[in-house]
Amino acid sequence: MKDSRRNFLKKFAATGVLIPLANTFTEAYPIKTDRKLRVALMGLGSYATNQLAPGIMKSQNCELVGIITGTPEKAVKWKEKYNLLDKNIYNYENYETISQNPDIDVVYVVLPNSMHAEYVMKTAKAGKNVITEKPMSVSVKEAKEMIAFCKNAGVKLGVGYRLHYEPFTNEVMRLAKDKDFGKIKFVETKFAWKNRDIKAWRMNNKWSGGGALMDVGIYCINASRYATGEEPISVTAQAVKTEPEIYRDIEETILWQLKFPSGAIASGMSSYATNAHELSVHYENGSLFMSPAYDYGPLKGYTSKGTMDIPIVHHQAYQMDGFADALLNNKPILTPGEEGLKDMIIIEAIKKAAETGKEIKIKY
Ligand code: NDP
Repeated sequence: MKDSRRNFLKKFAATGVLIPLANTFTEAYPIKTDRKLRVALMGLGSYATNQLAPGIMKSQNCELVGIITGTPEKAVKWKEKYNLLDKNIYNYENYETISQNPDIDVVYVVLPNSMHAEYVMKTAKAGKNVITEKPMSVSVKEAKEMIAFCKNAGVKLGVGYRLHYEPFTNEVMRLAKDKDFGKIKFVETKFAWKNRDIKAWRMNNKWSGGGALMDVGIYCINASRYATGEEPISVTAQAVKTEPEIYRDIEETILWQLKFPSGAIASGMSSYATNAHELSVHYENGSLFMSPAYDYGPLKGYTSKGTMDIPIVHHQAYQMDGFADALLNNKPILTPGEEGLKDMIIIEAIKKAAETGKEIKIKY
């Protein structure tokens, strides 16, 4: 699939198509499936409503056929808007009966972080393939259980790392592999947004499993891994809390430094106290800078060779088509549970490093 995507980028470059200024869906995903992947969304909050459902509608290989919601008014609205059949509408109490529904191929869990593990395993028990949002869990232990459970149940588990499916991120990955600018020496990543909503589940450790690190720092960790093409071996970290009355049992700002086997270093920062969306990669003979690097788009960036002339796509549509390609064409999922587990291992190591002030070895 990555090769096809590269061909797609080459095709764009060869035709000299101009990059649109708005975040529009420029071209269909490069792979088509024989039939559409039938998706049910679970947890109709902000991300499912504003990004994933429109993404499924814009995709070429998926259709939205079902929902799982605890809010009856949402069920009524979604049924009408997406023309859903009553038999494909569930709540959290009757959810297990989805096992008897042959018309749903995959359930996409878009719940608060601490609910991912329970509902991924319930979905696997019902015999359905499952995608979960990031972070895949709130602990390494849970992530391992989820992977083992899905494997034993014979279903596939994917994680919603949408950036892996879009062309800018694919170019960062390609540079790590093809080494146009030589070896990678230093990566700097920052993802932060101002979050002071103390009533929200994200601000409560029980529901979120942590603060900015779990929510957006995970993008920086993942970016450090795809920008180097390596897995980090140790970490040091520092946590800063200036407003303990707001960020009660979660981190406010956290900084970390990852060491990679080649000697490359990645410095990261995530915070709920400011705004930042950046990735820089410094190679032996050049550099790359992207800002924004993690938003829904349009992503922007340049390298030592100039502006990154790359098609702007709808991330969620591309991600969903990528999942359809894997599930319907029986290919490996590009972002499986194992990808999510690695980030969880690094998150736990960062937390431990910040707590102890020591360099922590990372074991996979
Ligand atoms: P929201 O709070 O907006 O939505 C969560 C939904 O979960 C609720 O609307 C509700 O839907 C359902 N829910 C069930 N039980 C609870 C509960 N006890 N408390 C709160 N909600 C509950 O969250 P988001 O949509 O922003 O985030 C959901 C997940 O998606 C998170 O894991 C987050 O990290 C991830 N995410 C990923 C993004 C990405 O770019 N990949 C971007 C944003 C979020 P209902 O009423 O239908 O039951």
